[in-house]
Amino acid sequence: MFRPKGPACQSCGMPLSKDPLGGGTNADGSLSSEYCSHCYRKGVFTQPNITAQEMTALVEGKLRSMHFPGFLARRFAKEVPTLRRWRNKGANQNSARPSSGDLQARA
Ligand SMILES: [Zn+2]
Repeated sequence: MFRPKGPACQSCGMPLSKDPLGGGTNADGSLSSEYCSHCYRKGVFTQPNITAQEMTALVEGKLRSMHFPGFLARRFAKEVPTLRRWRNKGANQNSARPSSGDLQARA
């Protein structure tokens, strides 16, 4: 079974115990108990616009680069969309349209 003990990052699924920094950081500098240091720093996501699908692919690639067998990497990566960061936006999963608001706001 591939069930690491302890809390895992709710964005990418990495066990926080494997995080070299012990976890991401909140805006006040305290350690986040939900996200790892790759995903979350100083209270913001390092990749705020990434989708669950992109994160799934990223995690799978990462695991493969760590010499996980492909089937295991895929199985683990498939859990990414069930993590807390992605669950509440499930309704919008199919609307891949970029919001034009972001571009216009840079005036
Ligand atoms: Zn993470």
